[in-house]
Amino acid sequence: MAARRRANAKIGITGLGQRQEIGPGVFINNFYRGCTPGFIRTEEGVILVDTPLIPEQAEDWRAQIEEECPDLPFLYVFNTDHHRGHALGNQYFMPSRVIAHERAHKEMAGYTENFKERVYNSFKREPEIQHQLTHIEIVPPHITFTDSAKLLYGGREVHLIFLGGHTPATSIAWLPDERICFAGDVVWVDQHPYMAQADTLQWIEALRYVRKLNPEQIVPGHGPVCEPDVTHKVEEYIQFMRERVRDYYREGKTKNETKSGLVGEMVEWYPVPPERKAKIESQIKSGLNRVYREIQREEELAAAQARGIVLSHGLDDDDDEDDQD
Ligand SMILES: [Zn+2]
Repeated sequence: MAARRRANAKIGITGLGQRQEIGPGVFINNFYRGCTPGFIRTEEGVILVDTPLIPEQAEDWRAQIEEECPDLPFLYVFNTDHHRGHALGNQYFMPSRVIAHERAHKEMAGYTENFKERVYNSFKREPEIQHQLTHIEIVPPHITFTDSAKLLYGGREVHLIFLGGHTPATSIAWLPDERICFAGDVVWVDQHPYMAQADTLQWIEALRYVRKLNPEQIVPGHGPVCEPDVTHKVEEYIQFMRERVRDYYREGKTKNETKSGLVGEMVEWYPVPPERKAKIESQIKSGLNRVYREIQREEELAAAQARGIVLSHGLDDDDDEDDQD
């Protein structure tokens, strides 16, 4: 490990913490806001997994990678999804080629000036971050895949696998030789998952898939490196939300009644710092909103089936993404 740099501010907020080598040539950084980014050193270059959202942290990350891998080019930046916390920092890692699921490309190609303004405005309570976000440049994927892709460089194998669940683009990076899984936002450790674009049944399948890989280490989209048992907790969280929303739905409660009725129960799952409480509660409500529509659809389908009627079961995708993670 290279020389240690001390964090000069609140770690995880504007902190610049030191990288951690979790396998030979496989690094992550757990000190940045928005995601836990990583990189894999190969003999031919570096493969990055996700990019930090806050410019100061993205620049710090680039400096740390260059310090670790002097003279190696950046081969690819893999975005596990299109959310700001994973992909907004792409611009700081050029030249390289961004690769992600086809749907991530569709979403990111649609990030307009209005989106940039919303990102800027979402930091109005943190001016030291906000003033850095005046030159946002979106770098959508140059290469896309739909089911899976493999990056085979310098003796390394990096499998990119679409699982969905958290978003219709969510994909993981699996290193079969090192048994390391970069799980993206399929896995959250000790944090409320962001569910506004979720397909919860697909998400539960995704968690099971990750468990079945039997990784030695999981790098979650948010939080520290963990082991496969953590996936159970995420699954319980999602199942609990589904069950409670179904209870409310069956009691005849409206979507808004369900959201305000359940936010308190959900927030207790994980400790939330007071300064983030309002934001987390609104994030939980957007998840409840999504799950309510899923449950409503499931219940309507079941009722229709009972009467012998066939309904289509697609969910539209108009959810608010103001606070996406
Ligand atoms: Zn995400």
